[in-house]
Amino acid sequence: MTSRPEEPGAVLSQLTDALGSAVLIDPKSLAEARSDRSGKTSEFAPICVVEAKSTQDVVAVMKIANQTHTPVVVRGGGSGLAGGAIGSSGEIVLSLAKMNQILEISVENRWAQVQAGVINQDLNLAAQKLGLWFTPDPASRVWSTVGGNIATNAGGLLCAKYGVTREAVRQLTVVMADGEVMSLGHETVKGVTGFDLVGLLVGSEGTLGVITEAKVSLKPVDPHPVTTLSAKAKDIVLAAKAVQETIRQGLQPSIFELIDEPCSRYISEHLNMTSVESGFNMLIAQTDGAGSASLAEQIADVWRGLGLEVQVEERGEELLSFRRAMLPSLEVKGKVLIEDVAVPISKLGEMLQAIRSIESQFGIEIPTVAHAGDGNLHPNFIYQGEEVPQHIWSAADAIFRKAIALGGTLTGEHGVGLLKRQWLVDELGQAQWKLQWEIKKLFDPKNILNPGKVFDPENFK
Ligand SMILES: Cc1cc2nc3c(=O)[nH]c(=O)nc-3n(C[C@H](O)[C@H](O)[C@H](O)COP(=O)(O)OP(=O)(O)OC[C@H]3O[C@@H](n4cnc5c(N)ncnc54)[C@H](O)[C@@H]3O)c2cc1C
Repeated sequence: MTSRPEEPGAVLSQLTDALGSAVLIDPKSLAEARSDRSGKTSEFAPICVVEAKSTQDVVAVMKIANQTHTPVVVRGGGSGLAGGAIGSSGEIVLSLAKMNQILEISVENRWAQVQAGVINQDLNLAAQKLGLWFTPDPASRVWSTVGGNIATNAGGLLCAKYGVTREAVRQLTVVMADGEVMSLGHETVKGVTGFDLVGLLVGSEGTLGVITEAKVSLKPVDPHPVTTLSAKAKDIVLAAKAVQETIRQGLQPSIFELIDEPCSRYISEHLNMTSVESGFNMLIAQTDGAGSASLAEQIADVWRGLGLEVQVEERGEELLSFRRAMLPSLEVKGKVLIEDVAVPISKLGEMLQAIRSIESQFGIEIPTVAHAGDGNLHPNFIYQGEEVPQHIWSAADAIFRKAIALGGTLTGEHGVGLLKRQWLVDELGQAQWKLQWEIKKLFDPKNILNPGKVFDPENFK
């Protein structure tokens, strides 16, 4: 795994011979490839950015990379929050953004065959014309690619009912580290021949193979109107209890969000919404399907039973826009580190309380939103300057450790990338870390696929 790479100049000329104008070395392309949306920028520019237009282009890149031992960083929309798509010196950044063709949508089979660079929203707009939709809905759906969603196992607001990206992936075309093309998974709804390699590739963050095409499941568009509820709670533990009780009673909203007091204050300030009373934690639930209104009424009854004041909202979209304004509202105050832990639903209150005590311990505010219906919390840290300050990382460390101690995870949907690799062993334990590293080596014996991301052998104690 430690062979020396060939000279960057020699690699560049081989790539240019094979792929011509798809190989970019202009300053703008190189600068963009040095960062994603994690707030991290690599110190040095990569050798080049290659804009693949076909699986065969990807094969050509991987063959050259394999022969020359050159690292390859795969990149979709570059919207990642973990530093996974960042290219640095001596690396080839392989962009799939130009592989943006929707190849086929089968209404009969309810799937779409797409190139990996198709933007999530573009797939949805095309599917909707045929009465279908692609359920993964990250807030970045306007810029993130289906390949990137698969590589990070992205979630979104609708995960509460429809699950994460894994649930929607049937089959993948993958270019392996040595340039071999494999088709993994099944076109069929079911299929258990051999190991679930699609499951392994989903969430692999560019470390096991390059996903060039995907066959993803679609669902029929539901014609019924949705119903949206909101409630406010002074006490964060009461807000969490309302979530837990709703789920315990078997009620299933399609969207179930919690916005804590600091976060709702920042958002209402930013949107100049004087109508939103400050000092409260907010709950938002949306129900869908034929029984949407009566389900919403049952949820409202549960919340009222706990003493919450509930509103049935006619302006559902407005409320969701309020939730989606979280990041811009914080970004006006400084740079933002968006964290991403998940805990079992039964531990949601304890995790939210722990965040309040970590705020006091470190003398900072940690405005937090949660995809409460699936126990996924985004504690946010606002900071000034280029790099995340050490005290912020210490507070984040306390949050990660608490989430793990509660039976949760370091990352619900954003991935490990560069930012969280040092904590990976804390969650997996040494034996599982080693097993995963062996799997990585089996797929990528020369360690050329996104080396240093997710796994950092240096940090293995
Ligand atoms: C404002 C904002 C809101 C967001 N909201 C959400 C949200 O609600 N839910 C959520 O889960 N995430 C969210 N994200 C994070 C991000 O958008 C997702 O992780 C998204 O899935 C990344 O897709 P991308 O195409 O931009 O991938 P990139 O950022 O380009 O890459 C992400 C990782 O995937 C790998 N990768 C990309 N494409 C491929 C491929 N074809 N084959 C193999 N590996 C590949 C990269 O190497 C990298 O490790 C948000 C980000 C922003 C900036």
